[in-house]
Amino acid sequence: KDIGGLAAPKRELEGLIFALKSPDLHFRWGTKPPRGVLLYGPAGTGKTLLSKALARESGAVFFHLKLNNVVSKWRGESGELFQEVFSVVKANGRSVLFLDELDALSIERLFLPEEARAAGGRLVNTMAENLDDLDDTGQNMVVASTNRIDAIDPALVRPGRIDRFIEVGLPEAEEKAEIFRIHQAKAEARAGRKLFLELQYDAIITRMVKLSGADIAEIIQRALEEKVRLEGSGQE
Ligand code: ADP
Repeated sequence: KDIGGLAAPKRELEGLIFALKSPDLHFRWGTKPPRGVLLYGPAGTGKTLLSKALARESGAVFFHLKLNNVVSKWRGESGELFQEVFSVVKANGRSVLFLDELDALSIERLFLPEEARAAGGRLVNTMAENLDDLDDTGQNMVVASTNRIDAIDPALVRPGRIDRFIEVGLPEAEEKAEIFRIHQAKAEARAGRKLFLELQYDAIITRMVKLSGADIAEIIQRALEEKVRLEGSGQE
């Protein structure tokens, strides 16, 4: 309920909650629980929020791996780090491993020098092997995210690996209003008092194109900071 809009992705995630909580249901019907999904869409649309909600709602431990940071800092050593992360994930029972910015593993983005491309290829292979090595108990689920689906290495999204794609798009007008309300209500809950007047969303939202949930959260944050500034300087 903290996530506005996104009815279709939420519905898909509900199925995944089932799979994580009761993988035996899949086995009873002779099918395997999904292991990996890819959430794709513009930045700030709620992909991280959805992944965390999946973990929370299914009582799973949440691991967040920011691949961009890993790859830029660890470079050639990233493979060993992946290995270690996967073994920690597997040792933790029911868990969600969030692979943030999976496109960071695409060969053309990895390392520029020629000799390093081989290292990049090895990195993709290590990730793919680790995905293959997840056991079939349905305890561990990998959720990857990207805002560049075109740059995902095909080896990572083969059947049996990260093989379900869920689009997480920018909110429509009604959804924007819902996200505004969610963030206003959160601020009011933190402050323990009413802070906002009833807003005529229609009047402002139609003027806001390409607005993400993160942008809306930022608008609320800035508005409140302005209030803090005014009160702090004795103007309110
Ligand atoms: P992404 O992972 O897609 O880049 P995030 O899930 O990290 O985006 O969203 C960043 C922030 O933007 C969230 O912490 C939240 O405050 C806000 N946000 C984004 N989408 C939504 C949404 N659908 N409903 C409510 N808040 C949202």
